[in-house]
Amino acid sequence: MNCVNHEDREAVLFCQKSKKWLCEECGSHCLSPELQCKFRLDCIIWLREHEGPAKQS
Ligand SMILES: [Zn+2]
Repeated sequence: MNCVNHEDREAVLFCQKSKKWLCEECGSHCLSPELQCKFRLDCIIWLREHEGPAKQS
């Protein structure tokens, strides 16, 4: 599976809201943050955007 925006890049993230596979670059930010996302609590993109890669517990 490759990125919906980059056919030559391997997709690493799946956006459940837009149902699209995204590469590292495209998955670094939400595609449509203005839209309510019922998957937000489970969204890896949202987490990456708001917590950063180094999550502290
Ligand atoms: Zn991409």
